[in-house]
Amino acid sequence: MTARIAELNVYPVATLRDKSGVRRFPFRIDQLTSSLRHDWQKAEVLALFERPFNDLMYEAQSVHREHFDPNKVQLSTLLSIKTGGCPEDCKYCPQSVHFDTGLDVHGLLPIEDVVQAARNARADGASRFCMGAAWRSPTERQVEQVAELVRAVNDEGLETCVTLGMLSDDKAQCLADAGLAYYNHNLDTSPEYYGDIITTRTYQDRLDTLAAVRDAGINVCCGGIVGMGESREDRAGLLQQLANLPQHPESVPINMLVRVEGTPLNESAAISNIEFVRTVCVSRILMPRSFVRLSAGRKDMSDEAQALCYLAGANSIFCGERLLTTPNPENEEDRLLFDQLGIEPLDIATEEAPFRAVL
Ligand code: SF4
Repeated sequence: MTARIAELNVYPVATLRDKSGVRRFPFRIDQLTSSLRHDWQKAEVLALFERPFNDLMYEAQSVHREHFDPNKVQLSTLLSIKTGGCPEDCKYCPQSVHFDTGLDVHGLLPIEDVVQAARNARADGASRFCMGAAWRSPTERQVEQVAELVRAVNDEGLETCVTLGMLSDDKAQCLADAGLAYYNHNLDTSPEYYGDIITTRTYQDRLDTLAAVRDAGINVCCGGIVGMGESREDRAGLLQQLANLPQHPESVPINMLVRVEGTPLNESAAISNIEFVRTVCVSRILMPRSFVRLSAGRKDMSDEAQALCYLAGANSIFCGERLLTTPNPENEEDRLLFDQLGIEPLDIATEEAPFRAVL
């Protein structure tokens, strides 16, 4: 396999399936190279943030081009399969029972609805279908129900990702056995600022879930949220944590807080788009082989700000008009922007991945 990578300089993602025919992400990022760092110091990360913008952008774009096709962006769709009623107190989240946001609460969606949504997502060009359920931690029964959804969505030719809250080893294994490709569990912010945002679960709880997911052989989707009133040092601290995990997350969602009335963070100070782009640049530099996903907050970003994010190395987005419970740009808006920028969707089902295996 190594010889094949070296020979072709690309990796044929779509052709790799396990015995049951489920498509598997073909490698652990860290297996491709030993040059990835996991020992970043906070001062080093802060120094990157503080570089002149043009220098930082140049470095991020250079790193991006070493590892990815700069004109391809992976598309994911996110569906809320169980909405609201969550006992956690994440201060940004309209789904928490602690805050009155007037949310339309619903239980787990029927499998037919989920499969139909997956078909629609596929037709709109998505290659990954993400399902979110507002639980603190799913019960065994709930994990089995989600495993059934994972199998059904896999059968539609889409990669699957779920976010269900905290997972134990056996629950992670159950999802892995169903063919789950990715599990999303964000660190949200720096360890130092974390207690200002969530009090019902600890940072270590989150790290434990990430370890369970890794041990089960599921790819990790893990990032955070900026614009929650945190300092630049906190943003650096979040990225330091992500980059210093034993393996870099394969997918790193960077969210700009979407302020929702009724949540405690509704009035928190926003960060500028330039600071957001800096955050994307630093993510790209620290985790050069990860997909950096431009996630929540795109609806309020100008085309120009999003273009800068792509230039900074963002190469994945959520498409579809809703992101769990908050608005997202419509597909047509994304298509128009992609056309202007000459960006094409990366379809991992039919194309070779753009990784250049620099071994
Ligand atoms: S755990 Fe998830 S769904 Fe629950 S309040 Fe926090 S962000 Fe919202």
